[in-house]
Amino acid sequence: MQRRLVSDLTGVGPALTEKLAELDIHSVEDLITTFPSRYDNFEVLPLSELVHEQKATIEGIVLSEPVVTYYGYKKSRLTVSLQVGEVVVKGIIFNRAFAKSHLKVNQNVIVTGKWDQHRQQITISHYRTGEKDQTAEIEPVYLLRQIITQKQFKKIIKQALEKYSHEIVEILPEKYLTEYKLFNRHFAIEQIHFPKDVNHLKQAKRRLIYDELLIFQLKMQVIRKYNRERTLGNTKIYDQKKVEQFIEQLQFQLTAAQGKALNEILSDLKSPYRMHRLLQGDVGSGKTIVAAIALYSSVLAGYQGAIMVPTEILAEQHYRSLSNLFAGIVNVELLTGSIKGKQRSERLTAIREGKIHIIVGTHALIQDEVNFLNLGLVIVDEQHRFGVKQRKVLREKGIDPDILFMTATPIPRTLAITSYGDMDMSIIDQMPQGRKEIETFWVKESMFPRIITFIEKEIKKGGQAYIVTPLIEESDKIDIQNAVDLYQHLSNTFSGSIRTGLLHGRLTNIEKEQVMQEFADNKINVLISTTVIEVGVNVPNATIMVVYDAERFGLSQLHQLRGRVGRGERQSYCILIADPKGEIGKERMRVMTETTNGFELAEHDLKLRGPGEFFGSKQSGLPEFKLADPIHDYRTLETARKDAVDIILHNLLENDSEYNQLNQYMKDLLSEYTDGFD
Ligand code: ADP
Ligand code: MG
Repeated sequence: MQRRLVSDLTGVGPALTEKLAELDIHSVEDLITTFPSRYDNFEVLPLSELVHEQKATIEGIVLSEPVVTYYGYKKSRLTVSLQVGEVVVKGIIFNRAFAKSHLKVNQNVIVTGKWDQHRQQITISHYRTGEKDQTAEIEPVYLLRQIITQKQFKKIIKQALEKYSHEIVEILPEKYLTEYKLFNRHFAIEQIHFPKDVNHLKQAKRRLIYDELLIFQLKMQVIRKYNRERTLGNTKIYDQKKVEQFIEQLQFQLTAAQGKALNEILSDLKSPYRMHRLLQGDVGSGKTIVAAIALYSSVLAGYQGAIMVPTEILAEQHYRSLSNLFAGIVNVELLTGSIKGKQRSERLTAIREGKIHIIVGTHALIQDEVNFLNLGLVIVDEQHRFGVKQRKVLREKGIDPDILFMTATPIPRTLAITSYGDMDMSIIDQMPQGRKEIETFWVKESMFPRIITFIEKEIKKGGQAYIVTPLIEESDKIDIQNAVDLYQHLSNTFSGSIRTGLLHGRLTNIEKEQVMQEFADNKINVLISTTVIEVGVNVPNATIMVVYDAERFGLSQLHQLRGRVGRGERQSYCILIADPKGEIGKERMRVMTETTNGFELAEHDLKLRGPGEFFGSKQSGLPEFKLADPIHDYRTLETARKDAVDIILHNLLENDSEYNQLNQYMKDLLSEYTDGFD
């Protein structure tokens, strides 16, 4: 619709304009697309359907003259008898003595208020006299943060719709309306504000949710296409033979799933497109080697590669394994916050001059001082741990480098197509051969002595154990104290020959590294740790994972912790110590013992905890919708996704005149979202 300011509306002066601006409403279009956040249903119900203590609306006839009594200072109480069907109901109105003059004997009234089932009495907050008025049954309620009143807001919306709703253009091609049986757009917008009845409201919502999801998916697809087509000249040409030889000399054979993911990545590297791909694979599925081969190919093509990880422990580990893999062929170096002074400046120079081919690091990699000669491939491991901004900065360090994001937290499909819809996706859905399924137990804390015995037995057989300490509060300090206490306690509890180690966030990096190295060398048998070991740590000889307070973790997080064991040939165990109070908590522990499939767990987690919790932070990257709820509306989301892919694939926005309006809408929208094209 034409751009009009709210001040064009009658009665909207400077003061009101300012108030609306506070609500981020500037144009008439903003106004009419500010949808109600909920509705009060004033649908008249028979007494038999009323619920005690709940708000309800009933219709009756005034039986006798209302009686008003005054009390306190200016306080009043009005009582009136109403004939509702066969029953006489008492109505009470506080502090509105004037109502007496409206409620005449034999008058028909519709009253809304809190219902008292036992007394057959209603405390009236709202009444209307006369016959039933259909349109007023469902009252929209807007989120106005008390800046203006509901009444005032509704009045201007009503005016805006009356004057301008004919300007709301239909953005969908006719065939969508027919196929999905959708209201047209302007009718849907009218009905979402002032619904005729419950069914109209439902249909209006259905139409507008589809719009919202389709537009969102189109945006994703447009961005994806743009990313793919924009960057020419980033074609990596490398010696295929050398890559094959490298794969052949590995100690194992790649699984079919690894091979498939690798091919997808390599063909992106070879193509002129800029890769923007997410590699998903359950813990232990072997993503690192796939990343390493991609880095190698990129180096062979004459580019530097970088791999960014969330913790120093992981950086060290990746550094070690990549150095081993590439010993004598590729120069791998580390850059973390704890590399300082002369060593740091030398390393920075080597990066700038291109002497380092592969650089492994934490967010230290994205500092201003780090400059690459020719960064060609960026890999972001455990990507959900990084903020959107950090990922973007790293990307900008190279001239359109290819980017591969990796995650071991399987992303449920619903979230994948909302949050990651602009990326290509590769999935490793298969474990390397010879892995035994981890056995998971859920126990109460009183079982701890038996767990100790179990660990001792396992260590005698050559295994090792992790014990993740209790979470007391969201406080690092207390968590660490806990780890220290438990460490001291266990050091005394375990029989003499068993060596314990302690790992937490306050150790210096050298200390941390030393502990991890000793654990990796089996000099430490039992590692007591805070959750710093959650992500990515790889010690194949570890066979037991004990987690305290398991109910406090998300399923995906528990799955990550569990993924620290079962990495070798031996049977591994995960012991969850938990005493959840609620049914949901119990259900979650049960699910953990029943499945080791990360994707399945992720779906459960999403259902049980919601998307924000699922990602464990506000950085979930989940878009905010006005009406749609990607979880609840996932079917619509899938349809919208399919339609959007189809529209972009066949260039319908440009090539089919039926899509003119939608094309225009997307153009306007994307011009506002230029930061989408980063
Ligand atoms: P993640 O996907 O969790 O990052 P890693 O890359 O750390 O998993 O791999 C886990 C372990 O599996 C490593 O010790 C790795 O060397 C090993 N591995 C990877 N791929 C294979 C394979 N195809 N066959 C056997 N072992 C493999
Ligand atoms: Mg990994």
